[in-house]
Parts: sequence; structure tokens; C-alpha cells
Amino acid sequence: MPAKGRPWTRETALFKEECRKRNAPCWNCQLGGIPIDYLSKYDPDNYQPARYTTDHKNPTSLGGDKMQRSNWAPAHAHCNSSRGNGTRRAELPTSRKW
Ligand SMILES: [Zn+2]
Repeated sequence: MPAKGRPWTRETALFKEECRKRNAPCWNCQLGGIPIDYLSKYDPDNYQPARYTTDHKNPTSLGGDKMQRSNWAPAHAHCNSSRGNGTRRAELPTSRKW
């Protein structure tokens, strides 16, 4: 099993940087295609619907690979979460064996 946390953070930071350089649009936009805000950082006290997030084209809750780069796409925070609400199911039980 790959370790959680650090590789994901590092890899998605690289992915974000690539998207920022080519000004990649939101892949599944519900904000009318406004540009993604690549500069804002997550702030729990200040919701920024246009902020960049790494979305999964095939949701991890439906078996999509969280660490698979080809499954990643740039999305607005708004579009990522609103889509997630529509497709995400109750958490699946983990399959970890001891
Ligand atoms: Zn969008």
C-alpha cells in the first residue's frame, strides 16, 4: 500500500503547477467557465468557489484511483464539491487486513 499524505501532496502540487502554467480550465465547470484561481490557498473562514482543487474524473468513492495522475483534473472548489455531493456515496468500508 502506498503511504498516504506526503506523496499525494507533492504530486498534486506538481500537477497544480503544470495546470497553472497552461492556465488549464475547470474540467467540469458549473461556474460558467471562469478562470481557476490558482493562487488562493485554502482558507476555512473564507470560501473561494473559484479556488483550484485537484478533482478525480473517476471519483475515488466509486473506485477511481486517488494517486493515478491520469485520473486527475483541475476543478474549481465549487465544481469539485458540488459534483462530489451528487456522486459520492456513503463511505465504503476499508479493505485493510491486519
Ligand atoms: Zn468550474
